[in-house]
Amino acid sequence: MLISEIYLSRQGEGRLTGTPSVFVRTSGCNLRCDFCDTPFTSWNPEGQQMAVREIVEHVREAVEKPLPARVDGVEEAQDETARHVVLTGGEPMLSKEVELLCDALSELDFHITIETAGTIDRHLKCDLMSISPKLSNSTPSSERAGQWAERHEATRYRPDIVASLIERHDYQLKFVVADPADVIEIETYITEVGSVDRNKVLLMPEGIDAETLSSRTGWLEGLCDEKGFAFCPRQHIAWYGNKRAT
Ligand code: SF4
Repeated sequence: MLISEIYLSRQGEGRLTGTPSVFVRTSGCNLRCDFCDTPFTSWNPEGQQMAVREIVEHVREAVEKPLPARVDGVEEAQDETARHVVLTGGEPMLSKEVELLCDALSELDFHITIETAGTIDRHLKCDLMSISPKLSNSTPSSERAGQWAERHEATRYRPDIVASLIERHDYQLKFVVADPADVIEIETYITEVGSVDRNKVLLMPEGIDAETLSSRTGWLEGLCDEKGFAFCPRQHIAWYGNKRAT
C-alpha cells in the first residue's frame, strides 16, 4: 500500500474525539475535493510503498511515541497506550490490501476506525466506519481540475455503497458544510441511503484554520439543533494547528 505517514495523535473529529490513536494515512484518492486538506494524498499523492507487515510494525512503534506538542500550550498527560488505529487517507479503501491490514490489526486487538468518503465497498474488519460523503460543495472547477472535475462529480455520490457499509458496521456519517443551504442536500442524501440513525449524522464546518472554522460554528450549531444532527468540531486544528502528522 502507498503510505503517506503513520503517527500517534489524538482523534480530532467525531465521537472518538480525544482518543489517542495511531493514524495510518494512505496515499491516493479516487476524488479531488476542492477543499481537500491532505492534497499530498490526492491532488499530488506522495508516499512510500509498504507491505502490511511493515505498516503493522510502524503502528507498534508509533504507540510508544509521544503525542504531538499542542499549539495552545496545554501539556498532554500521556497516561494510556493507544489501542486505536485510524485508517485514513487519501482513500484507504482504494487498495484491496486494506482488508489484510484490518485482519492483522484486529488480531492485535486494536480498535479500527476507517475514514472513507464512502465510494468503495470492501468486506473487512472494522469497529467504526467513519464515512464522509462528499456533497456538491466538494467538486472542483474544471479550470482547476481539468478532467478530474467531471470524474470527481461522477464518483462522489454513492448512497448505495454508504447503505451497504452502514448495514454491516457501526458508523458515523460526517458531512462537510460550507453553507447553510448544504443541509438540503444532506437531507436528500440520507433519505437516499435509507435507515440512517440521525444521532450518527455529524455536521462539520468546512475550513482548515481556526478563524474560518469559528466563523461557521455559530450557525452550524444552530442548524444541528434544529435538524437533530450532531455538531462536529475539527478539534485537532485547535490543538495542533493545520500541521502534518497531527
Ligand atoms: S476524499 Fe478526502 S482525501 Fe480524497 S480528495 Fe476528498 S478530502 Fe481529499
